Amino acid sequence: MERFIPDENRIKSTVENYRRINEQVKETAVKAGRDPQDVRLMCVTKTVEAEYINPVLDLGADLIGENRVQEYVGKMDALHLDGVEKHLIGHLQTNKVKQIVGKVDMIESVDSLKLAKEISKQSEKIGTVTNILVEVNVGKEESKSGIFIEGLEELLCEIAQLSAIKVKGLMTIPPICDENEARQYFSLIHKSFVDIKDKKIDNIDMDILSMGMSGDFEAAILEGSNIVRVGSAIFGARKYF
Ligand SMILES: *Cc1c(COP(=O)(O)O)cnc(C)c1O
Repeated sequence: MERFIPDENRIKSTVENYRRINEQVKETAVKAGRDPQDVRLMCVTKTVEAEYINPVLDLGADLIGENRVQEYVGKMDALHLDGVEKHLIGHLQTNKVKQIVGKVDMIESVDSLKLAKEISKQSEKIGTVTNILVEVNVGKEESKSGIFIEGLEELLCEIAQLSAIKVKGLMTIPPICDENEARQYFSLIHKSFVDIKDKKIDNIDMDILSMGMSGDFEAAILEGSNIVRVGSAIFGARKYF
């Protein structure tokens, strides 16, 4: 195999992008009247080579998100992951659960009891408890995974019964739309998040609300997000393979 030679200019722009977005996240938090420490920036590293991810990790980025089990498992050893939290954010098939449990700190994309049961089962096998977020399909889009808001509380209560899973909050991807519309979707999810939190259901912590990506992270922060998942605005446009 040919050795991969990273593009120095791309490393430079990635580092600059990371610094700038990190500042924007903090400034937006302040603008929203929130503590800048409340909002975490996740670097979404899918399709990006380790050579471009490590410079950002070396600068202090402490949270990454990956979409595909295979890709993450294949590159994790090349990443500078000391002190870095890893989340799986992509759709997870039940038959891949075994390969990822224990290798990430959180699975953000749980949207069915079947998947949750498998995560609990595999976690139990290796003597761990897996933190999860439940993914909500806020725009009721056929093309997207996630549970509709109407079914959310019931699913949460079922998942909360499982022994080796800890529910930590909610994740969502709104439909592609303008900023005003996006804010309405974010606000809708935030309302559910607060309602459920107030109910103090056993084994359900509503601590994390993961929403906002490259195009809409500021809108998401203004509506209460505390993890924004930013990929292309840091690493550049993705080349799909
Ligand atoms: C790819 C991806 C992101 C990042 O998207 P960008 O628009 O590149 O910032 C965030 N969340 C999920 C679930 C993703 O799959």
